[in-house]
Amino acid sequence: MGIKIINRVVGVVFAAISLVTLTQPASADLMIQNVTIIDPVAGETQNQDILIGNGTIAAIGDHGSIATFVPVDTLDGTGKFLIPALWDAHVHLTFDKEIGNAALPLFVANGITRVRDTGGLLSEILLVQEVAKERGSEAPAIYFAGPLIDGMPRVYDGTPARFPNISDGASSPEDAERIVDELAAAGASLIKSYEMLQPDVFRALVARAAERGLPVTSHIPLSMDAEAVISAGVKGMEHLRNIGLACSNKSEILLAERQAMLRDGANEEGSTLRSSIHAAQRPIAFGSQDAERCTAVIAALGAAKVFQTPTLALNTRGALRQFLELRQREPFQHLPKAVRDRWDAFADGAADTPIDPAYIAFADWSLGMVSQLHEAGVPIMAGTDTPIGLLTPGFSLHLEMEMLVKAGLSPQEALASATLRPAEFFGLEDEMGTIDIGKSSELVLLTANPLDEITNTRTIDTVVTRGTVFDREALDALLEDAAE
Ligand SMILES: [Zn+2]
Repeated sequence: MGIKIINRVVGVVFAAISLVTLTQPASADLMIQNVTIIDPVAGETQNQDILIGNGTIAAIGDHGSIATFVPVDTLDGTGKFLIPALWDAHVHLTFDKEIGNAALPLFVANGITRVRDTGGLLSEILLVQEVAKERGSEAPAIYFAGPLIDGMPRVYDGTPARFPNISDGASSPEDAERIVDELAAAGASLIKSYEMLQPDVFRALVARAAERGLPVTSHIPLSMDAEAVISAGVKGMEHLRNIGLACSNKSEILLAERQAMLRDGANEEGSTLRSSIHAAQRPIAFGSQDAERCTAVIAALGAAKVFQTPTLALNTRGALRQFLELRQREPFQHLPKAVRDRWDAFADGAADTPIDPAYIAFADWSLGMVSQLHEAGVPIMAGTDTPIGLLTPGFSLHLEMEMLVKAGLSPQEALASATLRPAEFFGLEDEMGTIDIGKSSELVLLTANPLDEITNTRTIDTVVTRGTVFDREALDALLEDAAE
C-alpha cells in the first residue's frame, strides 16, 4: 500500500454518544478503529476509535461510537496498540558529516517525529532544518539549540578531529548575552550550556535565555557545583554530567582543585583540559559518593523540576557493549557505507579488548542515579546523543527506553519520557505528548503492547505524521533509501 496522504477534508464529524466530547465540528481525515490506546498518563484503554483531522485528534470513543456524515479513510487497529509519536530529546544532526541527512528518515521509520538537537553550528543546523522542512513528513520536526555555549578554551572546537567544531565560546557575560540574542533571533528553541563556562558567564547566559523565553539545558560547568547551577535557573541537564562530582564527600575540595586546573590550563586545548580534569577527579568522586549529600542534590533537582536526559544507552555502552548485540548492530546497514564500515571496525575492535572496570562503575552509578532521580520526582527524558557512541539514529531511542526501564522506570513512565516529558520541557504539553482530543495526531501503531515489555515499542506497524500514513512497507522503504 505504501504511503497514503490523508490531509484532505472529507467530512464533518459529530458526537454520536456522550462519551465523545466535541465543542465544534472538525474536518476528518482518518479513523483508526478498534485499537488499544496506550497513553503515557492514562495507561491502557481497549477497543477505541480515534478520529483525526487537521493534524489533531478530533474525537476518541468506544469502537463504533463515532459517526461522520461522509465516509473517512479507516485504519484497522484490531489487535494493535496506539502510542503518541516519539521524541529523541538528545541528538546531534550535524555531528557526523558522513551521516548527513540520512538520519532524518531513520527517525521517522522508528516512530520519532520530533527531535531536540543539543548542539551543532547554527549555519549547519539551519541547513538541516531546511532539508527537513522540504521532506515534510519524511523528516522529524527539529528543535535546535545551535552551538554548545562553552567557555574558553572550548572543548568542541574542531581539534582533535573527534571533537568537531560544534560550539561557540563565551568569555564574558556580554559575550553570553550576545550569543543568546543571536540564537533567539535565528529561531533556536533552547540553549545548551557546556562545561568550560565560568560562573558569572553562565549566570548571565541563563538570565538572558530566560528573558528570551529559551530553556537552558546544561552540563554542569566544571567551575561550579550542582546547587549553584540549579539555583541559576536551568531547565535541564544532560548525561547526568558532573552530578557525580557533586555527590562526593570531597565535593568542595574537588571543586577548588578543578577551578585551579581551569586557571592553570587556560592556554591548553579545551578537549585535553576537560579530559585531564575528568581523569583526575572522576575516580575520586565515584569512590567517595556520599548518600546524604547526593540526596540533597537530588532533592534540589526535584524541587526545581530540572529535566534530566541521562543518555543511559551512552553512559552504559562501555560496560554493556550493546553495540555488539545483533539488534543494535543490524541497523548499521541503514547508514552510509563509509559510516557503517567505521562503526563495524570500532565494534569489532572493542569486542577484543577487556572491559575497563571504570566503565562498569560509571554504568552502575548512572543506572542507580536515574533510579533515585525518578523516585524523587525529577522529570526524565529519553535522549540518546546519536550518532555518538555507535547509536544509530532512530533505533537507539528504543534502546534508551529499555535502559530507563532497567533503571527502574515502569514501561509507561519510559514511554512518557519519550513523549510527554519532552513536550513539557518546551511547554507544549497542551498540544502533544498524550492521546487526547485536541492534541497532535502524530501517532504510532504497534503490533505488541509496550506496557507488557518496553522492547515492544520496536514493533512498529504504522506511523501517522503530518498528514501522511506510513504503513510497514513505506517505513521499510524509508529505511532502505535513507543512505542514498
Ligand atoms: Zn550531546
